[in-house]
Amino acid sequence: MATAIKPLSTYNGPTQLLIDGQWREAVSGKRFNTLNPATGEIITSVAEADKADVDLAVKAARKAFEEGPWSKMTATDRGRVLSKLADLIMEHRDELAELETMDNGKPISDSRNVDVPLVADCIEYYAGWANKVHGETIPVPGPFLNYTLREPIGVVGQIVAWNFPMLLAAWKLGPALATGNTVVLKPAEQTPLSALRLGELCLEAGIPPGVVNVLPGFGPTAGSALVTHPDVDKIAFTGEYLTGQTIMREAAGTLKRISFELGGKSPNIVFADADLDAAVAGSLMGIFWNQGEVCCAGSRLFLQESVYDQFMDKLVGQAGKMKVGDPMDPSTQIGALISEDHLNKVLRYIDIGKAEGAKLRTGGDQPTKRGYFVNPTIFDGVNDSMKIAREEIFGPVLSVIRFKDMDEVVPRANNTFYGLAAAVWTRDVGKAHAMARKLKAGTVWVNTYNVISSLSPFGGYKMSGFGRELGVHALESYTQVKSVWVSLPN
Ligand code: NAD
Repeated sequence: MATAIKPLSTYNGPTQLLIDGQWREAVSGKRFNTLNPATGEIITSVAEADKADVDLAVKAARKAFEEGPWSKMTATDRGRVLSKLADLIMEHRDELAELETMDNGKPISDSRNVDVPLVADCIEYYAGWANKVHGETIPVPGPFLNYTLREPIGVVGQIVAWNFPMLLAAWKLGPALATGNTVVLKPAEQTPLSALRLGELCLEAGIPPGVVNVLPGFGPTAGSALVTHPDVDKIAFTGEYLTGQTIMREAAGTLKRISFELGGKSPNIVFADADLDAAVAGSLMGIFWNQGEVCCAGSRLFLQESVYDQFMDKLVGQAGKMKVGDPMDPSTQIGALISEDHLNKVLRYIDIGKAEGAKLRTGGDQPTKRGYFVNPTIFDGVNDSMKIAREEIFGPVLSVIRFKDMDEVVPRANNTFYGLAAAVWTRDVGKAHAMARKLKAGTVWVNTYNVISSLSPFGGYKMSGFGRELGVHALESYTQVKSVWVSLPN
């Protein structure tokens, strides 16, 4: 059953900065608007953080880290508080889903059934880790007891992108908080609302003031102030590789720890011996889920030549039937792109694809001029050197490429500076596992796409990033190891 987009006047969530458990305007008094991408209309304005606000938030986070009560709380109690937060998130599932869809433009069925449950699951998962992170004793030679302490890093700056605003925040908050760090979170300027609401729920769950600070603002101002701040111990960043390069340069001054989740141009490889119907469905979901605004989107589809034409016909036929439109309608499959700028970038890539000589098989246009929508777009006959095969478009645009056999496709699939994800479709078990080894990517899916779990690591090879989110591996990014030597009497 379809529902209308929520009237803008109904938004009454937080719009100020969350610093030290208090809601406050920016020191400068500045505010900026956040838009509903489905309509282009303003939802509300939020306080705009800058250096002065970053200073205040870092001071609060430092105090909370050094003096407690967070750092003095038992690990078990920290876990309990995080568990409470996970419960609160699920209690507010519908509200959070609507907020996310309104601010981001993604389909409500995804916000409600994927984003919010995954956010809660991630927090719950790390709640379970809180009292299971510990050091070890080491049988060193000599009259010594040697043991390690696994300690939090301190004050962590977390800077995230807009495509999964709440989920990307949860991936970073979960392991940081479970291990006893304090956080200054900067959501993307396009999507500040769910992070502010999450901050409010953190307080309600009993996370003490100063432990989670939320500062909406822009990258070169608020983001950069966090990166260069001498009292921030680590930056965890999700966004474009170019921004990652800037952050790496700026973080050099204070030699901060950094972890990066960057972009991708992931190969999705379909062999002729695959279950082709499943591969068609998986390939569509692989590129068009979340309007293609997915870092691990399967944006390069390699099709083995003997099934190429047959596969393309099915793919194009089904893409043309996907429902694009009102993100608040539960039957919508493809919502709005994040902004007018991003819409124009995606449309530019479509023009480039045509100019490069790729054949536009479906889409390429907008279903309506209201809001920032693009129909699912498929280019046929793409070759490896075209821009649309090399650059991350971050929209609903698929480049389809022909290949002969396994030996030939592996180097072509790996021929990118990205390495976030890859997928293989085949009924041959040996080939599937061989491909999983050969593909240079942080995640390889076999006969599926876009499956992600809080339990399993996610992150990039090559210029798609370093450090891992999720699973036990993320705990590494938020802890440091101390070696303690104790002299024993002979
Ligand atoms: P972006 O790099 O423009 O912005 C990301 C965040 O960085 C925003 O909060 C922004 O304000 C901030 N920022 C920008 N300039 C900054 C600076 N100089 N210093 C500090 N912070 C700064 O990226 P985007 O357009 O928001 O997101 C899209 C990109 O994110 C794509 O490349 C996508 O693949 C990537 N992404 C990766 C993952 C992953 O897990 N690997 C997940 C989602 C998105």
